[in-house]
Formats: sequence, structure tokens, C-alpha cells
Amino acid sequence: MSTSPKPFDNLDLQPLAGEWRKGSNDRCLQVTNPYTRATLMSLQMANQQDMDKAFARAEQAQAEWAALPPAARAEVMLKAVSIFDARQEEIINWLIQESGSTRLKATIEWSAARGITLEAASMPNRVHGRIVESNIPGKESRVYRKPLGVVGLISPWNFPLHLTQRSLAPALALGNAVVVKPASDTPVTGGLLLARIFEEAGLPAGLLSVVVGPGSEIGDAFVAHATPALISFTGSTQVGQNIGRIATSGDHLKHVALELGGNSPFVVLSDADVEQAVNAAIFGKFLHSGQICMAINRIIVEGPAYETFCQRFAERARELKCGDPNLMETAVGPVASERQLEGLLEKIKTAKAEGARVLVAGEANGNVLPPHVFADVTADMEIAREEIFGPLVGIQCAKNAEHALELANNTRYGLSSAVFTGSIERGVRFAQGIKAGMTHINDMPVNDEANAPFGGEKNSGVGRFNGDWAIEEFTTDHWITVQHSNRDYPF
Ligand code: NAD
Repeated sequence: MSTSPKPFDNLDLQPLAGEWRKGSNDRCLQVTNPYTRATLMSLQMANQQDMDKAFARAEQAQAEWAALPPAARAEVMLKAVSIFDARQEEIINWLIQESGSTRLKATIEWSAARGITLEAASMPNRVHGRIVESNIPGKESRVYRKPLGVVGLISPWNFPLHLTQRSLAPALALGNAVVVKPASDTPVTGGLLLARIFEEAGLPAGLLSVVVGPGSEIGDAFVAHATPALISFTGSTQVGQNIGRIATSGDHLKHVALELGGNSPFVVLSDADVEQAVNAAIFGKFLHSGQICMAINRIIVEGPAYETFCQRFAERARELKCGDPNLMETAVGPVASERQLEGLLEKIKTAKAEGARVLVAGEANGNVLPPHVFADVTADMEIAREEIFGPLVGIQCAKNAEHALELANNTRYGLSSAVFTGSIERGVRFAQGIKAGMTHINDMPVNDEANAPFGGEKNSGVGRFNGDWAIEEFTTDHWITVQHSNRDYPF
């Protein structure tokens, strides 16, 4: 009979330069449960000196790690997968407690993070150099593909475990060292838990540090630091644009991968199966209370299907079970913080003031905000223009398919999107007209496959994650030539 491993302890310490210890900052971070609003723990934060030490040790540890045979790095990933399995309940419980995930969302997130770790185990053997033909007699031209070195990783609070791991596991597997700066709301699920998992899987000490520090104090210094060759950032467009500016100016130019905000359109054409479209829209909007970058932000329905869609969508939204995230049947749990809740209440006020028709509404209970659905939304209203990141949505009516496409593209963002139609080929042609990194036909926009290219266009970011795209992102070419015979130079 297999017994569950003893839960990880001392998660108020950070792995800094090879040692689990308290940060040297005199400020403490209170980690709270968004549902109960109770304090989970108090954590002494890191300061800039801790961060400098973490980067220095990462640089040292990286060379040895990269020199290991691919199978040795793959083995650590496979061991990490087995730890994900053995500690499934423990990981899911942390996600529920720290990030307010419902049990369903936490299970999906656990599975996604496990999936990318398994995918990463194959990456060490998928890195290929090339021999390029040379026009110079006697010259051999080789391109070596190698790790970048040290990666600086910054992740958000909404899918903390997966969004850290989707960079962390590939970066490590491909021979890099990583310093993680998780979001202050989710230091455990966004970094510390993963560091414990990798430690147990046999990752050498110092190769991975987790720096939990105030963004205002160490954020800019982290991005401008001389050591990281890449800043892999997932978060808001506003912060991402600033990170891009810092990383590409100053004394230490570096690569950036920016996965930013979204404003996903969900389009229903008049020939669609409306009931199925409603089912997809309910899940794609309300999973994790809408706090997902790919979540449906705008619903656009072609005229003839509009009233039926609005009515059925509102009925389904009213029926959703809201409240305790610990229960498997809960669809809408708490939003991440009181700060988030206040912002959403402002957005509701604005939508009403701008003339959106209220179909579904309700009172917040603690941080649990029930679904809010607005009809007759126009493209100029705030809920159509801005990323919502909450359980609210506006429905727009399109005159025809052409108008639906125009509305879908009426955004500065271009992350994910979806279109429902009775004709797959019509759907593909429509999808080709959408300016986004990802479009799903007859499915919702929230989608995660460990071997498909994840990423956005326009203000949703630069760079792609997963599969071969992660291998591109976390390795670089080094062109080395060999002159085999004496060459005749012109002078
Ligand atoms: P955020 O931009 O406020 O914070 C993201 C991370 O950046 C956090 O770890 C934060 O501590 C850090 N940070 C903040 N200021 C910084 C600074 N000056 N220097 C360095 N780091 C700094 O985003 P959030 O509120 O945590 O997450 C929600 C946003 O993330 C939404 O806009 C959402 O769409 C986006 N997001 C995008 C994706 C994607 O893959 N495209 C996935 C999830 C979330």
C-alpha cells in the first residue's frame, strides 16, 4: 500500500543561492486565503543582496548542469512528474488556499503543470545543432544550439503553479539555471512549492532560486540585472511593456518573452449550435471567476442567434454554484483579493452607467462575486475595451459575419479567440481573419496543450511557449566555423 509523503514544511523559507532561509529584507509578507481572508503564513521577504547572490550562484551552477548528459536532466523532470503524482492532493490544496482556485480549477492547473513537466522531460533530446553549407573553400560552418544561461522568471497570481512551471521546467530541462520572482499573492504556488518538488527530484542546489521580494524594491533591478540572458515574464500588458523597456535598454541587453493581457472575443455565428456555444461560453468565461488571460472577455453574437443566446447564457449563468472553492461542485469561487474585487465592482458600476442592459447580477459575499452578464454592449464601453479579469461579461450583437469579425478585431490585444459555426470551413476562414495568436473553432478560448504554440499578437505579447516553441525560447544559436585548409586572403 502506498502512503502519502509527509507534506512539505518550512514553506516560509526561500531557496536562495543554494540554501533555504529567510530573506534579508526587514519587511514581512502576509500570505492570505482569498476565500476566508485568514492569514496562511508570514514570510520574511528577500532584498536586492539576496537576489544578487541568487543570480551569482545560478551562473556558477548552470555550466555544470548544462554539461550533464540529456538523460540526466530528463531524469530530474521525470522524477518531478512522479512527485506531482504523489503530492497531487497537497498541491491542489495549496492552490485552493493560496490562490482561491476552485477544486476543479486547481485540478486543471495541477494537470497542466504536470503535463508541461512531462513534456520538458523530452526536451533535452530535442535540441539539434546544424551544419550549414559554406561558400568558402575548406570552411566548415556549424551551428550549435545551447542553453541561454540564466533565466529570470516573473509570474502572475492567477495560474501561479502552471505559469511558473511552463517556463521553469523547459528552461531547466534545456540546461539553464533559473531565478524565479513569483507574484506576492502566491509565493508558495508560484515558486516555493515547485522549488521543493525539484529539490526532492534531485535538482542540484543553487540552480533554482526563488526570490520573494517587493516588486517596487527589486522588480526593476531583477530585470536590469547583468546575469540573466532572458526575462520570461507573464503578467499584465502595462507591467510587461515596462519590463520590455528595461530589458532592452541600459547596460545589459537581454532577450525577453512577454506573455501579457488579453481581450478574447467569443463569436457565435448564426449557423452555430447555440446550446453548445452557450455551454462553451459558460465554461470559458467563468472558470476561475474569469481570472484567466484567455478567458472570454467579449461575446459577439450574429443577429439571428442573439436573443436566444442571451436568454440561455443568462439562465445558465444564474444557475452556477458560487462560494466555497474547496467543493468540487463550486463553479465560481473568490476573486484573488479585495483589491481585485474593488476593481470589478467599479467595472460593474461603469457598465451600468454606460447603458449596458443587466441580465444577471448579484451581491458579493466576501471576495465571492457572482456572475454578472450585460447585453446590448457596444464596442466603446469599458467592458468591451478593457481586460475584465473577473466573472463579468458583455454580449454584443453583430449585424452579420463581417461585422462580427470587425468587432472581434476591435481591440489592442490579440491573445486567444473562438468562433462557433455550423460549418468548419467557414470557421477556419473566419479564424484566419482574426488577429490573435490562438483561435479555436467550436470550442472556448481557454485552452492549454503542452505541445501547442501558446502566445499572443499585438499588446498580448511577444514569444511563444510550449513544445518546440519553448525549445526555441530557452536556447540560442552559436555559429562556429572551422577553416580546414589555408585560406588565400586578398591582402
Ligand atoms: P502583474 O503584471 O501585475 O504582475 C505580474 C508579475 O509581475 C507579478 O509577479 C508581479 O509581482 C510582477 N511585477 C509587478 N511589477 C513589477 C516590476 N516593476 N518589475 C518586475 N516585476 C513586477 O499581473 P497580475 O495582476 O499578477 O496578473 C494578471 C495579468 O496577467 C492579466 O493582465 C493577465 O491577462 C495576465 N496574464 C497573461 C497570461 C499569458 O500567458 N498571456 C497568463 C496569465 C495572466
